[in-house]
Amino acid sequence: MPSDMSDNLFSKTNRDIARTYWIIVGVVIGSLTALNIIDRILVRSRFKAAANNSPHPTRVKNKIGQIWATATAVLREAALPSVRSFTNKNTLLAMFTPLPLGRSVVVFIYMAMVAIMLSINVYTSGYWYYEKIAYRAAWVSVTQIPFVLLISGRLSLFTLLTNIPGERINWLHRWVGRVILVSVLVHMALFWRGWDLSDFLQTELEIMPMVRYGFGGFGVLGWIMFTSIAPVRWYTYELFYLNHLASVGALLWCLYMHVPKSAIYNVWLGIAFVAFDRFLRAALFLYSNIHSSSTSTTKSSYSLHFGHTAEIDILDRKENLTRVVIKDVKMKWRAGQHIYLSIPSLRPFESHPFSISNTYEALPLPGKEYKELGNATATHNGSRDLHLLISSRAGFSKQLHRKCGPADNAPVVLKAFIEGPYGSPPAWNTFETVVLIATSTGVTFTLPILEEIASNPACVRRIHFHWTVRHVSDLKLLTKRLARLGNKARGKGVDVFINIAVTCGTMKTAKDGKFVVGSDDGDSFGAAGSVASKGSEYLLLKTVEKDGTVDEITPVNGEPVASCCAATSPSQAAQAHTRTISTSSSNSSASDEEGAPCCCAAGTGNSCCETVCTCGFSSDDIEFSCGRPLISKMILPPIELAEGETVVACCANRRLMDDVRNYVGRVCDERAVHKGSGAQGVLCWTEGFY
Ligand SMILES: Cc1cc2nc3c(=O)[nH]c(=O)nc-3n(C[C@H](O)[C@H](O)[C@H](O)COP(=O)(O)OP(=O)(O)OC[C@H]3O[C@@H](n4cnc5c(N)ncnc54)[C@H](O)[C@@H]3O)c2cc1C
Repeated sequence: MPSDMSDNLFSKTNRDIARTYWIIVGVVIGSLTALNIIDRILVRSRFKAAANNSPHPTRVKNKIGQIWATATAVLREAALPSVRSFTNKNTLLAMFTPLPLGRSVVVFIYMAMVAIMLSINVYTSGYWYYEKIAYRAAWVSVTQIPFVLLISGRLSLFTLLTNIPGERINWLHRWVGRVILVSVLVHMALFWRGWDLSDFLQTELEIMPMVRYGFGGFGVLGWIMFTSIAPVRWYTYELFYLNHLASVGALLWCLYMHVPKSAIYNVWLGIAFVAFDRFLRAALFLYSNIHSSSTSTTKSSYSLHFGHTAEIDILDRKENLTRVVIKDVKMKWRAGQHIYLSIPSLRPFESHPFSISNTYEALPLPGKEYKELGNATATHNGSRDLHLLISSRAGFSKQLHRKCGPADNAPVVLKAFIEGPYGSPPAWNTFETVVLIATSTGVTFTLPILEEIASNPACVRRIHFHWTVRHVSDLKLLTKRLARLGNKARGKGVDVFINIAVTCGTMKTAKDGKFVVGSDDGDSFGAAGSVASKGSEYLLLKTVEKDGTVDEITPVNGEPVASCCAATSPSQAAQAHTRTISTSSSNSSASDEEGAPCCCAAGTGNSCCETVCTCGFSSDDIEFSCGRPLISKMILPPIELAEGETVVACCANRRLMDDVRNYVGRVCDERAVHKGSGAQGVLCWTEGFY
């Protein structure tokens, strides 16, 4: 039971401080809610302008709009700078990378606010000196408990009001938790000191059960902090998650037994926030997973199903990529959102977040023929599928991959449950220019954005799509779909530039003056092979021809190259290139038509740069390059061309995302975005899979 003890002791000022804390929190949440509403109004007005064929639907039109745009630009620039992550891996070192500037400022302000709350109007001397400060610290600590729980859920009240999803605010959740630990430490240490001075410590522990619960609560809080630090969290996420839930329950119980009646509302408020989130999630889970089906046309044959059929197959064995197709999904989603997937027959109590790699589209009438992007024409059966592209790691994803077996057989069918969609990405088609940057499986985030824009460009006039992959073999899987989407968007008047950079393959110059993509492993392109245009500014490596022979491989731009071919000796390169020329010229009559039989021919041996393919798409569809593309080359040209607002979306490893954030911030500052120079705003949106 909550204690009656010390209910009124020194509590007037403390209650006022607690009230002030919640007024500040309320004002901040209210402001974020207002921003959310304004953002929705802006989105609508842009759609309206686009529907009215306005030449620049994303441009500011009046003075208030200009003030708003300038304030937004200043805040974005201030928030973007980040220290480059010390490592890309989930190791101890990653934990020490500081937060980006904007987040650091928020944490600093929060800490300063709590420090002021701890010290304002507090006694500096007198008999009750230690007790008074200890009580203040107790109030400050317990007052923060509901807030830390409010910002913890996937469907919290905070998320619903502000449209800031849980995974984008969890850094604050962690920092508020740390601040609570410090204020609890102050509370405990000062009581300890006061009792110690009056020789009362032992008696307190013996006669006051609430004190024992207090120590218990502190122990649980310390345990939560320790088990939440990044390396422990990464080591085994499921254990972290279960432990976190159980520990929060234990903490709330200890608090319930420890705090006086006058402060118990904080415990109930915390429980209410958690219950709100859990209730909505349970409802969403049921809604997402219960669906009906019928085998005949009579209504009576409808039956309810719990869970979905998931078809799982291997997309790329070498890259350990698995594709999961969830059948009969009724929820709506937007490009850039993710779901939580659980497959109990593989791992009963686990659910993992994965980006949805296809777009939500209105269903055609059942029985009608339809052509899905990247897929063959099929007769529609009235169901909508949701696609996931999963790269194999150590646990669930690896087991999923293994389940498919060694041979490329028919997809494995399992029962799956989904929860979502989660995430609040911007409305991509309300920007004038869209720059999409992905490495490896990050394409699962950017590809549906391209797909969504290709279906309904609205305000979009230009898309630059960059995808960096390690191996040529990665390309054949999604290149075809990418090219189709590019053409679909072009057909709707969007200027589309697609670049695929291969970091472990190379480009070579064939006699016909075209660059061709070489593979590093003897693996040849599928029907989606490629030819890139000569002279591309994106090439980091190119072969130099003298009198028809190859002399050397030279890095263009003097940039370091990641290509394995950089290590190839000139003589090897010459040999490889000679093979390239003969192979490509012998195939020079190959059709560029999509779906034409591939004209690839593997070179002898298994070394880098030996396999060459010149068939596939024309250079207008997709440009291929070798080595890592420069960030400036990816971002600056479209921003300079933009006549309206730009969004730069990046799904990659930590370091690339930091680089992109820093670069966008710097460019906006240099170009004096929305500060009288005429340069238009840029939103930088990064998404990490860790
Ligand atoms: C918003 C979001 C979208 C994602 N989209 C994709 C995608 O489209 N394709 C893809 O291949 N990967 C995606 N990921 C990463 C994917 O969720 C993890 O790779 C997967 O959960 C790893 O599980 P595992 O047991 O196989 O690996 P493990 O080796 O056990 O874990 C690898 C890492 O994944 C993290 N992780 C594990 N389980 C979870 C969980 N339940 N919730 C959050 N993080 C977890 C851990 O921090 C750990 O560091 C996404 C992650 C997030 C946060």
